[in-house]
Amino acid sequence: MSGLFDDLRDLYQEVILDHGRKPRNFRRLDDADATARGDNPMCGDRIELFIRRAPDGSIADAAFQGRGCAISTASASLMTETVKGKTADEAKDLGAKFRELAMTGVCPDCGASFADEMERLAPLSGVHEFPSRVKCATLAWHTLNAALDGAKEASSE
Ligand code: ZN
Repeated sequence: MSGLFDDLRDLYQEVILDHGRKPRNFRRLDDADATARGDNPMCGDRIELFIRRAPDGSIADAAFQGRGCAISTASASLMTETVKGKTADEAKDLGAKFRELAMTGVCPDCGASFADEMERLAPLSGVHEFPSRVKCATLAWHTLNAALDGAKEASSE
């Protein structure tokens, strides 16, 4: 039986493949004022994240480099797109909600505060069906937290 959910699944898969093949913000930021490296040894995903802050402390630019599976690359690409303009607290809050989405497939409390962002991140919600891939999807957000906290290393473990 085909229906809305199959169409949605196809669309989600297309978004992941597109961002996995042509990641946005895939570059080094030479004027970054926060960086961190993320490592997911279970899959071999590695990223290096660069953050540049605006004078008011919000995230002016975010970019990454690295090597990983399509899911980790797509997740990092989508993360850098959705955190721009956010304060550190907002970005961490969004990351916590994304982790809930990745682990359970739903995020009941997400609607109000980050509706647009969660809609953009929704293509990765399917990883909850594949527990070993959840870490691929959340690696970029662990790494973001590390960068925002001034840590240099983040592990998916
Ligand atoms: Zn991976």
